[in-house]
Amino acid sequence: MRLLLHCCCGPCATEVVDHFRGLGCEVAGWSFNPNIHPEEERARRQRTLAEAARRMCLPLVEGDSGERGGEEMGLAQFLLALARREGRRCRACYELRLGATAREAAGRGFDAFSTTLLISPYQDTSALAKIGRQVGERHGVEFRFADLRGSYGESIERAREMGLYRQNYCGCQFSALERAERRAGRAIGKARARLARGREPEP
Ligand code: SF4
Repeated sequence: MRLLLHCCCGPCATEVVDHFRGLGCEVAGWSFNPNIHPEEERARRQRTLAEAARRMCLPLVEGDSGERGGEEMGLAQFLLALARREGRRCRACYELRLGATAREAAGRGFDAFSTTLLISPYQDTSALAKIGRQVGERHGVEFRFADLRGSYGESIERAREMGLYRQNYCGCQFSALERAERRAGRAIGKARARLARGREPEP
């Protein structure tokens, strides 16, 4: 079976590629992540994926089959989807990326498609499964689901061994802001605790 694997980043690709290869699939990777902000971060993740693919002998499918208009158009679609689906940001993001992957897989004659997002404990696996099946049916190509969250630790270890860059936020501007908020909240909590113990907050 030829499988087109949507790759969110290099570190997550490591174990997911091995999983599908272990099932006998001939895997090719494809990166479509117009949600990632800013542009330099997206370019850095792309370079990291290219390095991981080189090390794993994973062919990467370049470009698109011409209907979608590339990641620039994808960013506009992403922002539009968010405006229409307020409060369901990640679902809109999955629909955009998995929908494009299903279309690409069908257009290039793959038997199935899947996504490296399935390894992340930070993603909504049930939503990915549901949306993957829906877009697969729409484009007439099978979505291969596997709950791979148990292998997340191994993917981190593999990325360390390979010296791959590992990002510390999901990708979009909102997730970057949420990370900054969490960090600020922790810093404030620590400063309050020190003050409560009669100490000066750390500079
Ligand atoms: S947090 Fe991640 S999955 Fe959710 S919208 Fe942002 S980039 Fe997409």
